[in-house]
Amino acid sequence: MMKGTINPVSNILIKGGRVLASGGTTEGDVLIAGGRIEAIGGEQRADGADVIQAAGLWVVPGLVDIHCHLREPGFEHKEDIASGVAAAAKGGFTTVCCMANTNPVNDNAVVTEFIKRRAEEAGPVRVLPVAAVTKGLMGEELTEMGELREVGAVAVSDDGKSVRNAQRMRLALSYAKCFGLVVISHPEDEDLVDGGLMNEGYWSTALGLPGTTRAAEETIIARDCMLAALENARLHVAHVSTAGGAEIIRQAKRAGAPVTCETAPHYLYATDEWAQGYDANTKVNPPLRTVGDRDALIEALKDGTIDCIATDHAPHHLDDKNVEYALAASGISGFETAFSICWTVLVKSGRFTPEQLFDKLSLSPARVLGIDAPALEVGSRADITIIDPEAEWTVDPSKFLSRGKNTPFAGRTLSGEVKRTIAGGVVVYRGE
Ligand SMILES: [Zn+2]
Repeated sequence: MMKGTINPVSNILIKGGRVLASGGTTEGDVLIAGGRIEAIGGEQRADGADVIQAAGLWVVPGLVDIHCHLREPGFEHKEDIASGVAAAAKGGFTTVCCMANTNPVNDNAVVTEFIKRRAEEAGPVRVLPVAAVTKGLMGEELTEMGELREVGAVAVSDDGKSVRNAQRMRLALSYAKCFGLVVISHPEDEDLVDGGLMNEGYWSTALGLPGTTRAAEETIIARDCMLAALENARLHVAHVSTAGGAEIIRQAKRAGAPVTCETAPHYLYATDEWAQGYDANTKVNPPLRTVGDRDALIEALKDGTIDCIATDHAPHHLDDKNVEYALAASGISGFETAFSICWTVLVKSGRFTPEQLFDKLSLSPARVLGIDAPALEVGSRADITIIDPEAEWTVDPSKFLSRGKNTPFAGRTLSGEVKRTIAGGVVVYRGE
């Protein structure tokens, strides 16, 4: 018996949507049977199937998030795997990859297997663990990457910190390559951060808060790109937030380095100006940057320098945020606003077509880590998200399914809304 699901596996008929099928966008029905896609296009019939009316809606491949924090084991007051998966489903995600900075750290097979078991209990949304690069995230001894891969780790990362010692990072890239694992870099030089709380610039000066130079991010991006080129080993750079960081990756790609990167929805929308009023919900790592950075990131996403969008969903307890700015935890609870922020900023504005956006939110992130991409084609596992492109809604964190209500987007009106999420042929989220 699957826990946390709304429907048991049954046949589902999605009627009359605009279907972003693998072969191209088409109008028509999608029939799901036995957890798989049975037919696409035209008018389908199925006696006894659950019918979802989708006229005017987009029917798209389930969204894939390759960077989130589910907090279990160890920080269940912030989130656990079941609440995280419910929030992910509400956000339209059918696959999520969770980072290793739990307690205990996911640096060994026992923790990886524990996460996978808890995820199975939570339902059919796929949870794929990212294991640590170094034991305890201490930046010293490398983890047993071969064994971690065998039990289901899809990548390795010390996310939360960079691997401080460059030689250790070089060894990690070369070792991970032996097992076909991508190393995900959290680009942040902690010495350069030097107590910074927000982006260093006009607003940090105006607000009297210590700033973090963008060089803290960009030096590590440059270092890790060079090391990836040196070892010809796959590197993925997490949460790129600056114009300069994107430019370094653009150059590295041109030079042939095996590098990919992501940015997060909040960097495409919010800026450092939002820290006015000292709302701790604007505190995130890397920090919100300037309007110029935001525009450069959108450009880099468009030209392919930035491969994909990942949420960096980082739920916190109210007590972690309801303190003065300097003491507040960093992070944004991102699952439940990610899609709508991207739709508002990228599609509603006319910058991206829906197809381009869903590539960045589903197919491309799967390609980056080499995991199965959801595909709207006959025979595929039915991982499908249904979107209302015209809906407008106002963010109310009290309605989040995530335990983390920490968001700087409370009260903002966004366009585009997830109406249904289907994972493995099971409805895992049903909107109004
Ligand atoms: Zn990170």
